[in-house]
Amino acid sequence: MNECGLCERALEHGYLCNGDLLALAERLDRMPKLYTALGAFLAPAVHGGGERTGKGHATAVLPVNEAVLDLRYGGIALVLESWRSDVQACRGWGEPAIEGSVERRVLASARWLGMSLEWIAASYPAAGDLAREVREMEGAALSIVGALPERGRRIGQCVAVDASGVICGAVLYHRPGETRLACPWCTCVYEARDFLMLKTLQPEGAS
Ligand SMILES: [Zn+2]
Ligand SMILES: [Zn+2]
Repeated sequence: MNECGLCERALEHGYLCNGDLLALAERLDRMPKLYTALGAFLAPAVHGGGERTGKGHATAVLPVNEAVLDLRYGGIALVLESWRSDVQACRGWGEPAIEGSVERRVLASARWLGMSLEWIAASYPAAGDLAREVREMEGAALSIVGALPERGRRIGQCVAVDASGVICGAVLYHRPGETRLACPWCTCVYEARDFLMLKTLQPEGAS
């Protein structure tokens, strides 16, 4: 008999109960949006970037929310990437490639972990620690930005296929009044007339 690594509920197999697995999936899905939302809480001098040459140091430095900086520059990306790296190592795979902007890295690692959750819950003994750390990180970010905007009604997973044949799989939400949806992962756009098609193309078991 195993138990859930997060809530310690007894499990017949695996390392994460269904409830905590679902919560983790939703947190990973929200993480890139949360990351973007944090950007608004940086002082303009830092947000603008670019002009931080030597003489800049002589002028007054605007107050910056250190917690936001920690989460934005490295924090979220590094935490997600180190979990991804460990999961890949556990599966006997090589190190993940880390490239692009921090925003890109948050997106890529959250997405990768999201797509690996089935394996993580079933076969990864540290699944509970992963779920706990993601939950804490989200809590820290939410304590800065407040609640995320209403996410709307879940209409299904993104069915776009990338160049390597992998289905995107991001969860898509429709907010009242929206006539089109942009996938948060692959940026593929769905018009209102596509919503029904989207429903019929859902993978087995998803709803
Ligand atoms: Zn649990
Ligand atoms: Zn997509």
